Amino acid sequence: MQLSNLYLKKREEKRLLAGHLWIYSNEIDTKKSPFAQFQSGDLVSVKTRNNKNLGIAYINPHTLLCARLLTRTDQPINKLFFEQRIQQALELRNACFMLPFYRLIFGEGDYLPGLIVDRFADTFVVQITTAGMENLKSFIIDALISILKPKHILLRNDTSSRELEGLPSNVEAIYGEPPQEIIIEENNTKFYLPLWAGQKTGWFYDQKQNRSRLKDYVRNKNVLDVFSYIGGWGVTAANYGAKAITCIDSSELAINYIKRNAELNNLTNINVINNDAFAALKQLKDQKQKFEVIILDPPAFIKKRKDLMNGTLAYLRLHEMALSLLQKNGVLFTCSCSMHLSRDGLLDVIRRAGISANCELKIIEQLHQTQDHPIHPAINETEYLKGFVVWQTH
Ligand code: SAH
Repeated sequence: MQLSNLYLKKREEKRLLAGHLWIYSNEIDTKKSPFAQFQSGDLVSVKTRNNKNLGIAYINPHTLLCARLLTRTDQPINKLFFEQRIQQALELRNACFMLPFYRLIFGEGDYLPGLIVDRFADTFVVQITTAGMENLKSFIIDALISILKPKHILLRNDTSSRELEGLPSNVEAIYGEPPQEIIIEENNTKFYLPLWAGQKTGWFYDQKQNRSRLKDYVRNKNVLDVFSYIGGWGVTAANYGAKAITCIDSSELAINYIKRNAELNNLTNINVINNDAFAALKQLKDQKQKFEVIILDPPAFIKKRKDLMNGTLAYLRLHEMALSLLQKNGVLFTCSCSMHLSRDGLLDVIRRAGISANCELKIIEQLHQTQDHPIHPAINETEYLKGFVVWQTH
């Protein structure tokens, strides 16, 4: 099939040649390749001003980040293309994971911008975030079926980013009959998780490795898990021998799942607080409670760049409250999944909270997204999860 050409302005190929996959609308030569000739999601052949081929991208003429490269060759974008990319992704996961529970495709990190696939054994959850990927949906599903032979595939196309791309929001079974909930295993702990009604794709695989670090710190300790969702950290801490765990989440569904997940692992020492985290922390402080390990794994407080200042203040307030509940020689696990808050930015929040809580802090470990969320070496945004393990001296 002959693709339309997308011409870049003079010298605007620099970022792509440096390995990046994104093209912004101001880099396009709109005289040679007028936007009016493109539909959202069209595949295009990307060219320099001098007609040199840069590869095949998909385009959305209505967004600022208007095209993303799928391949640097002239390979057709079809089922075979997706089979190859999925196979490459699978090889990485097979090398790193013993069990079939992981993020199989992490967008740009797996050279498939706009596509997320989480694997829960033979149930797969697919999330498509761009018009370009949406157009290729049937190739993606066919390729998944031919390589992984899944029983069920659920489409969780209900992310806010779809709105920007002019795409509808929906959750639908696209293959088999995905159940309402499934059981997964992580770090020798089992979890029921709500597939259709859960947050995002139902589970946060990015924290697997970080949760495993609890092992060194929680034995016989009193642990607080803030923004606990269905207990990813809290239930794991209990399994690693924590004395008592308190989980805080504002979602009633999440809280009910924590109770069930405690039962599933034969644990009886998990308390739950179904409340806003800030209100709950204040209440715990008023009750003069203290904890030996505190985990802060909040949702992204900074969703857009313009939220940077307010979001950073929210992180600061959260850390100040947490430090005031932490015992002497206590350990704080803290993470941020806000793309716009850098690792240094989070460290600065910790530093400032330490000053205002009047305590000396020591950073003892750095936390990262797990291997199934590979970072694209040219795309900073793919490194979104950062965290620290912090020791509080007094
Ligand atoms: N720590 C979890 C993931 C957190 S997702 C894990 O490891 O799996 C963010 C969670 O924060 C969601 O469960 C959401 O219900 C909860 N949440 C969002 N805003 C909140 C608030 N203001 N107070 C308490 N919980 C909140």
